[in-house]
Amino acid sequence: MNYRNSQRLMWGLFIVSFILLAVGYNKNEMIFLVLGTLCTIAGILQAVIFYRCPYCYKSLMDCRDGIQKYCPHCGNELK
Ligand SMILES: [Zn+2]
Repeated sequence: MNYRNSQRLMWGLFIVSFILLAVGYNKNEMIFLVLGTLCTIAGILQAVIFYRCPYCYKSLMDCRDGIQKYCPHCGNELK
């Protein structure tokens, strides 16, 4: 998996977990709260593993402005 797919997956899982947590909170259903928490953890874990520069393999998690054109660590162009 490349870093772009990893970023999409991370946001997808965050949205799903937000919905699950909102439903679980409103209906007081523990299973939704547990699933929502697991989705959040899965989103972060896969990003830690896959959301990396394809050249230097350093994490892009600290790029707060989203994906930039160049890696902040090695300066290579991110395609
Ligand atoms: Zn790099």
